[in-house]
Amino acid sequence: MIPIEMNNESGDDEKISHVRYRPATALLLQVPPETLNRSAMSFLGFRAGDNAPIFCADVSDVEEKIKDVVKRGEGADADNIIIETSKDAKAVGPNLPKFDAGILAAAAGLLKWQQTVRFCSECGSRTKLIKAGHKTQCLDEKDIKCPGVNYPKLMPAVLTLTTCGDYCLLGRNSKWPRGFYSCLAGFVDQSESLEQAAAREVLEESGIEVLHNSTKFVSSQPWPFPNQLMVGFRAEAEEKTITIDDGTSKNGASKSQFKYPPNPNLDREELKDARWFHKDWLREQLGRHADPREDLSRGGRKEIPLGSIALPGTHALARHLVEQWVLEESGGKNKIPVVAFAGGESPPTLPPTNRSHVFAVVEFLGKGGGSTTAVRFQPTGGGGSPTKNDHERLLTDCEREASRLRGLLAKAEGANLKQILKMLGGGQIDFTGGEVSESAAYDDEREACLVAVVRNGGGGDSGGVEVPAANQEVLSALLRRQYPMHDVLIPGIGQ
Ligand SMILES: [Zn+2]
Repeated sequence: MIPIEMNNESGDDEKISHVRYRPATALLLQVPPETLNRSAMSFLGFRAGDNAPIFCADVSDVEEKIKDVVKRGEGADADNIIIETSKDAKAVGPNLPKFDAGILAAAAGLLKWQQTVRFCSECGSRTKLIKAGHKTQCLDEKDIKCPGVNYPKLMPAVLTLTTCGDYCLLGRNSKWPRGFYSCLAGFVDQSESLEQAAAREVLEESGIEVLHNSTKFVSSQPWPFPNQLMVGFRAEAEEKTITIDDGTSKNGASKSQFKYPPNPNLDREELKDARWFHKDWLREQLGRHADPREDLSRGGRKEIPLGSIALPGTHALARHLVEQWVLEESGGKNKIPVVAFAGGESPPTLPPTNRSHVFAVVEFLGKGGGSTTAVRFQPTGGGGSPTKNDHERLLTDCEREASRLRGLLAKAEGANLKQILKMLGGGQIDFTGGEVSESAAYDDEREACLVAVVRNGGGGDSGGVEVPAANQEVLSALLRRQYPMHDVLIPGIGQ
């Protein structure tokens, strides 16, 4: 297919990649019309600005003829003319100027539809294209006065960004490269509304139930590969609340609440993976890595690094949905880092796998009664299991951080630290993973994954100091906030 009557006036051949545009009318006119299958040209509309009419034609059957014509006229340059198929249109679209990409997409969709309606669906006779290629009419070969006509049809698909507080749910199907995530999507069933379809798809694929009436339309995008209309929604899932009670107070005043998104329960037929990603983490990741399948700039495939993700390109509706949400203000801007090294320092994106870490789950209490549940961790001094010293040093650092946060440093010695800091548990974390088993029997085992192995609490058979175990759900949620691509494993307690 060649979009016709398009000049590459911008002169940015680089950007256009392997597709070259030129006024193609002359070119096509040199091809004998009878060699073009069906109607020679379909009308796409007028170009904004100069009102030049734009047509497209299916030239897939005469590709060589066209190349010959070009060769006669332009010599060796002919090989630069690529005859596009709808598949190519999808692949090169992201690298084209917006206007050209739109025309290419429209042409690809229309020509694909024309290929599927060669025969009348009522009587089986051949059809002819009318209305400048936008309608077919039955040729009535059986002479039964068949009224069969056909118009291009749209297949709506919903795309949903499900959020839960400051988290959003993104998934990955098994055909996508490792690390590539997007909004959950699916086709609309007959007899359901778009909003119902959005909620149903999220539930079916991820097991996450969105709040009734929370599904809201955001934006839509034509996706004529071959005939979809992507309709983008945002929906909200209910946070799960855990009450943390450290038991220090009889009247319940010491209880605090911790909220986090409910765990997905995947339909493995549909999705390889789905995870919640915190807004702060996603903001950091935006634009860092590209879809390896579209990343033409770096000379072919480049894997997404383990522990990171790539989102669909900026041309995609899914990217728009995520970006729009990520760049919105968070509800309560928290000054206290939730997951950090001792003292509040930012931990590395990929924690070292060759040494153990000591951790403490703590609660920083605000002056106004509010609190922040947080985790502090750092590599152990000796590299192995945490010692008494490691735990003490971590707690001292937490106290110092709490004092600093509350401006109490000056009177720290006299201040009662228990009023501003609560220790909720601790233990050991080992970050592992990234290796792929050579002898793996299943695809799943061949896929590198990251794991945070937690020994919650301390002491017991394996020695070390006695520290209370933290609430495991709270601990897992805290770790996943900073390390969403890690699976948290707490041996002995199950998942
Ligand atoms: Zn018919």
